[in-house]
Amino acid sequence: MVRSGLRQLVLRPKFGTQLRCVHSEEKKWQSVAAATATAASLSACANAQENLQPMHTFKYSDTTVRLAEPHQLQPKPDAAGLQFGKLFTDHMLKIEYHQRLGGWQKPVITPFENLVLHPAAKVLHYAVELFEGMKAYRGVDGRIRLFRPEKNMERMNRSAVRSGLPTFSGEELIKCLSRLVSIDQEWVPHSESSSLYIRPTLIGIDPSLGVACLESALLYAILSPVGAYFSSGFQPVSLMADPQYTRAFPGGCGDRKMGSNYAPTIHVQHEANLRGYQQVLWLYGPEEQLTEVGTMNIFVLLINDEGELELVTPNLDGLILPGVTRMSILELTRGWNEFKVSERKITMGEMIHSMNENRLVEMFGAGTACIVSPVASIHYKDMTIKIPTGSQENPLYRRLERALTSIQYGRVEHPWAVPID
Ligand SMILES: *Cc1c(COP(=O)(O)O)cnc(C)c1O
Repeated sequence: MVRSGLRQLVLRPKFGTQLRCVHSEEKKWQSVAAATATAASLSACANAQENLQPMHTFKYSDTTVRLAEPHQLQPKPDAAGLQFGKLFTDHMLKIEYHQRLGGWQKPVITPFENLVLHPAAKVLHYAVELFEGMKAYRGVDGRIRLFRPEKNMERMNRSAVRSGLPTFSGEELIKCLSRLVSIDQEWVPHSESSSLYIRPTLIGIDPSLGVACLESALLYAILSPVGAYFSSGFQPVSLMADPQYTRAFPGGCGDRKMGSNYAPTIHVQHEANLRGYQQVLWLYGPEEQLTEVGTMNIFVLLINDEGELELVTPNLDGLILPGVTRMSILELTRGWNEFKVSERKITMGEMIHSMNENRLVEMFGAGTACIVSPVASIHYKDMTIKIPTGSQENPLYRRLERALTSIQYGRVEHPWAVPID
């Protein structure tokens, strides 16, 4: 039964031709694509041969599909009790890039399977890897939607340029991902606290040890049904802020979603847990700027020195990952026009000063995985900075969570939510 359902889906004609929101972004995307393609060729890396030509890309219309056999299909989990990123669906997308074969090859959707890599593959030695994190949501009307997917595609291409990996058309990848999600659509949970996490990944697979430009790459995407990101739900979390550690630095890659940014954080996160705190607050520089919390962007709501209510998030100075959730929160709150909204530097000094004057109101992290994550306290040197996030009457983080999920789950019509069918 499952099988025949899948076949029908795959045979349905004209799939994925209605990504209107994406089309409207096309102009803007083309300029980003042109810029990234130029940057890639300037770095004399994978795209060098495409110099002066329109951007080389794979095409959704070339996609071939090999469905899993019935015995390969996994049982669907219960939406309650899903843990982040532990279970995967029945299929995956793969697109290879080989310069000697003319660049991008045809996309293929296959049963979920292990990768076979040469032991010298560059990804395994020099972490030539980048990824994206996005979600498919099953709306209250049963339709499945993506949230601003073109933003993830732009960011993925920017990460590719910095990694010496080939760029591609985000619009084509969105269509391929939509098809993959459609094939595995029974995996998109029927629950408004759950969703299907989409993990597009791009790796360098050249079988040679030189630290040099990439001639072969693999773009693949896997899907994972997820529940609430934090098992504690909306319990405000405690943060460890230890200035001896830093996540990113000027001129580095903190603003790209490259795997090499995350490995060095695992030990620090573990140390935070050992010291009894839930997440790491990443500081930077002599002024101890707040940059990010865990793998989320941060927001602080406070009364500033002028006595105004102000929502602050660090500006995109190269240390900050340009989150889609961050951007959406800025656009929503600026549209509400209820308080001042600022992208600016915020330091531990300002946090302590604001605490001493009783002017901290809320603090929360923001990202696709959790949407918003309220913060209760920062543990810094031998000081505890308490933030009354959890004791506000109608907290901002809750309003934002409701506004964003209403869009994602189709409770309101909004151009940010793109149906996949
Ligand atoms: C992915 C990520 C974010 C959040 O980005 P979203 O697009 O909102 O999911 C923030 N910080 C870091 C370090 C990240 O990796």
